[in-house]
Amino acid sequence: MSIFSAIIARDIPADIVFESDTIIAFRDIAPRAPIHLLVVPKSEAYANVVELAAGDPALLAELVSVAHDLAREHADGEFRLIFNTGANAGQSVFHVHAHVLAGGLTEGSLGGE
Ligand code: 5GP
Repeated sequence: MSIFSAIIARDIPADIVFESDTIIAFRDIAPRAPIHLLVVPKSEAYANVVELAAGDPALLAELVSVAHDLAREHADGEFRLIFNTGANAGQSVFHVHAHVLAGGLTEGSLGGE
């Protein structure tokens, strides 16, 4: 089970800001922007955005729509959407998720450390 599935199951706590039948969103535990949310399909079937786009493009589109709604709710509606894809690109959780960064972004918020 991924750490995100443990959050979905309420086995570990998180600050959940959105939930539907298919998607959950919560605050990143180590925020790198004033608003830093993770938007996560509940399915563990897709390790990264490439697999999600190939396997369920409608779910990817839904994820982008949720990201936009959250950016409107938590900031001014403008946001940076990051999918780290592969360990060499900084991915550490292999359950597809989008980072939604918003609210006073700087170049340092691009996703790299
Ligand atoms: P990745 O590095 O795979 O692109 O993103 C994983 C993200 O998950 C990181 O930004 C990290 O801070 C976040 N994260 C890891 N474990 C937890 C956790 O238990 N709770 C929350 N809310 N975020 C987590």
